Amino acid sequence: MLGNGSDELISLLAMACDIPGASIVAPVPGFVMYPMSAQLQGLAFHGVPLTADFALDEAAMLAAIAQHKPAILYLAYPNNPTGTLWDAGVIERLIAAQGAQGGLVVMDEAYQPFAARSWIENARAAPEKHRHVLVMRTLSKFGLAGVRIGYMLGDAGLIAEIDKVRPPYNISVLNAECALFAIEHADVFAAQAADIRAERARLIDALARLPGVMPFPSEGNMLLVRVPDAVKAFDGMKARRVLIKNVSKMHPLLANCVRLTVGTADENAQMLAALEASL
Ligand SMILES: *Cc1c(COP(=O)(O)O)cnc(C)c1O
Repeated sequence: MLGNGSDELISLLAMACDIPGASIVAPVPGFVMYPMSAQLQGLAFHGVPLTADFALDEAAMLAAIAQHKPAILYLAYPNNPTGTLWDAGVIERLIAAQGAQGGLVVMDEAYQPFAARSWIENARAAPEKHRHVLVMRTLSKFGLAGVRIGYMLGDAGLIAEIDKVRPPYNISVLNAECALFAIEHADVFAAQAADIRAERARLIDALARLPGVMPFPSEGNMLLVRVPDAVKAFDGMKARRVLIKNVSKMHPLLANCVRLTVGTADENAQMLAALEASL
């Protein structure tokens, strides 16, 4: 099923599951559209805090599934804004628990081009355990954010039910042609993603050498970094014409954290210099 970006698919999922008492569960801090889609559609949202090192809190997640029996459990793989690729064993147990109570799991792979693993392999290896699991991807982080194409894969019967709430002409021929063009040149985008992954490794090394700066491991094209003073770093970098994202107020676990986008070697050098001067 195609969406006008995966944001539209997230909205349509909330609509498709909107029966009295329905709720959505996701780990927090996480992607902002999960709670927003719930709020706009009138569903309850229950965020379950990650651990201090941004791993899934398995016991708390299982407890939330048992308590709320959510219609949808979102797992961003890897997570935004932390960049974490969560433990596969924990995810398998959450998928089983969510299936046992009759809910859906959405594996949101927006950052898949930069990640070491995809859940699609797990789903293919055990299809009978994944009938209630959807894998979501997008061309946005792939390199074409303006094109607005997201897609969702899963059991044909399940997709057919969700497709009932899709507006009939949600994908224009221009979006569709752009997506086909991108697929025909997939090697160019794969090379671009490989460059970003190599730059990400260099950037982490350089950041770890700055005093008081702590980069977290990332499987995305962004890095979550703890700095001594997030406001000072953001303002100082902005004054030096480098715009980053100050996520420090998003969630208590993100205190003094900023999110940096991995760019070209030149852009990264400029960003590092601006950060160092702003500490
Ligand atoms: C960016 C992002 C999306 C949505 O991307 P679209 O541009 O709407 O396709 C979905 N999930 C996560 C985790 C994202 O970071």
